[in-house]
Amino acid sequence: MGRAYLTMRQRVPCVVSACLLGLPCRYDGRSNFFPLAARLVQAQLAYPLCPEGLGGLPIPRLPCERVGKRVLCRDGRDLTCAFQLGAQKAYRQSLALGARYALLKSRSPSCGIGQIYDGSFRKKLIPGYGLWAEALLQRGFILFSEEELAECSDVSTFFGLCRQREHLGR
Ligand code: SF4
Repeated sequence: MGRAYLTMRQRVPCVVSACLLGLPCRYDGRSNFFPLAARLVQAQLAYPLCPEGLGGLPIPRLPCERVGKRVLCRDGRDLTCAFQLGAQKAYRQSLALGARYALLKSRSPSCGIGQIYDGSFRKKLIPGYGLWAEALLQRGFILFSEEELAECSDVSTFFGLCRQREHLGR
């Protein structure tokens, strides 16, 4: 995959979960490549961020899930501080970039939108947001998950959907 590199000095309308770009930053060392994310970054219209990496979490790592305000690891460790640190760093970078839209990985305890795992590590979903997604939502960002955009492959359709949602105020 060819990549266009942006610096933090450039302003972009959108941030994306780095694993959607194909970067192997998932807990298991894999990625969730999503072509639209790559197109946005190649067009220098989006910047990739991984809050869990910014929080200092290693790759690979055990899966973690939100349990209320805490984030617990499958082995029972409380990793809330690292998750909060990463979410705050990613949030501040999103603001510094001038972004107002985000394309994020579904169900993640950091990036999930609308639905996340329930903390039982049994793949059960409950309504909720990952920590970074929650901070962006509270700031008024327009959020999309890659699952919602399964049928959307081009950049201009994506920004049309963003503006539509912005107009509707959600
Ligand atoms: Fe992807 Fe977000 Fe998890 Fe990083 S924190 S691997 S960007 S889902």
